[in-house]
Amino acid sequence: SRMESNAMVWFRKGLRIHDNPALDHARRGGCARLFPVFVLDPRYLEPDPTAFSPGSARSGLNRIRFLLDSLADLDSALRSLGSRLLLLRGEPAPLICRVLKDWNIGKLCFEFDTEPYSLARDKQVSDFASASGIQVFSPVSHTLFNPADIIEKNGGRAPLTYQSFVALAGKPPEPLSVTYHELPPVGDTGEYQLLSVPKIEELGYGDISQEEFSPFRGGESEALRRLKESLKDKEWVAKFEKPKGDPSAFLKPATTLLSPYLKFGCLSSRYFYQCLHDIYKSVGKHTSPPVSLAGQLLWRDFFYTVAFGTPNFDCMRGNKICKQVPWRDDEELLVAWREGQTGYPWIDAIMIQLKKWGWVHHLARHSVACFLTRGDLFIHWEKGRDVFERLLIDSDWAINNGNWLWLSCSSFFYQYYRIYSPISFGKKYDPNGNYIRHFLPVLKDMPNEYIYEPWTAPLSVQKKARCIIGKDYPKPVVDHDIASKECRKKMAEAYASNHSGENVPSGRSSNVLR
Ligand code: FAD
Repeated sequence: SRMESNAMVWFRKGLRIHDNPALDHARRGGCARLFPVFVLDPRYLEPDPTAFSPGSARSGLNRIRFLLDSLADLDSALRSLGSRLLLLRGEPAPLICRVLKDWNIGKLCFEFDTEPYSLARDKQVSDFASASGIQVFSPVSHTLFNPADIIEKNGGRAPLTYQSFVALAGKPPEPLSVTYHELPPVGDTGEYQLLSVPKIEELGYGDISQEEFSPFRGGESEALRRLKESLKDKEWVAKFEKPKGDPSAFLKPATTLLSPYLKFGCLSSRYFYQCLHDIYKSVGKHTSPPVSLAGQLLWRDFFYTVAFGTPNFDCMRGNKICKQVPWRDDEELLVAWREGQTGYPWIDAIMIQLKKWGWVHHLARHSVACFLTRGDLFIHWEKGRDVFERLLIDSDWAINNGNWLWLSCSSFFYQYYRIYSPISFGKKYDPNGNYIRHFLPVLKDMPNEYIYEPWTAPLSVQKKARCIIGKDYPKPVVDHDIASKECRKKMAEAYASNHSGENVPSGRSSNVLR
């Protein structure tokens, strides 16, 4: 008969109980003791007072808080099953290796993670485990498909268009449908100090009592509640069509806002996908990829696949699929963009929402990414990527880099002459500028006709609105008509000289923490 042994499930992403193959495998096959572990990495959390907003070097406060919420929720779900989350603090790979030995673990289970940083970390642990005779089980469950399978089906190369990706992918595996009543008990953890999930105020980020936090709270319970809420209106689901939808809707956003839950794996993408297909079956007529809601999940998998199959995906240099463009370096303009001080209310309101909420609508992301790069400021997409990476609660290595490559016309999309107007684009959706008034209260009394171009308001109007342009709110940092023409010209030149990133040395180490 089979020996009973100790098993560990190591949580990183995948912060959920439902559809969690690593957890399910860990508790099976005569598991006597189950050790559910999460390691808080001090390098991820350590306060960085030099960063442009409160938080650590890698992350602003909103995403850190979202993570802490998610851990607290996971702990309480595990406790209701007679288990608990074992929270440790330290450098993850060496710490996991130590506890594997000290807790006499026979089987280690963790979700496969395709990011370069994670691959390097996990290799250290897997090598150690294998050398110590510990079984390792590392299923793909963060995405619908296994990126490696798709790349193999495509002859070893990542498919570079959505259509070719969808054609290769087929139908995703179904989510696990087990429900647990009880999990095996947790074993003796010896001398290790187990932490309770800290509150954001306890992590040393200074006085954050005045911070305006994101209205979105992390965790599997919240994810499932939100999913249910989003899918209640079947008609809405069946008719969902992107990029239609109002980027200025903030009281009730036009999309599901499930991205941060997918990012941390509080929600399984396969479960989400299955729920969508159940609805499609029940209603009959519905939209299809790429515009449907299921199509959005396929976009996510598309970027994961290309990112996994492309060396130096997160930089221009050394990246084969990235156009080489001589972006300019201008710290002052970058800071104006980042801080919501460009003088274009539509752009600035989006950047303030991003800072406060850690989330903005897809088309809002389009607007500000285009403005920073090929539309107006001609600043490197990597700089914008860094700002998004820090501030977004859904900040995701593959998706963020993929979309910045897209919006800057560096890859995937090449119609650089199509530029979003920082004035008329937002106006189409929100002619009275309610979105701007909410996130830029300095402009709240500006009359409708000037709300998108306040610098054109006569001084008497500015005075009456108690907002003098150039004093209370900045003048535009560039003239859009001139700047966008200049950008088109520079993009045309860059495309004509047709550099490829292939033989240029890489600009960014792939083994950075994020
Ligand atoms: P919904 O429209 O409800 O879509 C459902 C899910 O589909 C999303 O939660 C997301 O997981 C996926 N999805 C939707 N759009 C895309 C897309 N274009 N690419 C890949 N997956 C998609 N999304 C992130 O999750 N993390 C990021 O770091 C990120 N960075 C971005 C940067 C830029 C410059 C741009 C233009 C877009 C970025 N996106 C990113 C993609 C997209 O804007 C968000 O996924 C979406 O707005 C999230 O809102 P939602 O959950 O309501 O989306």
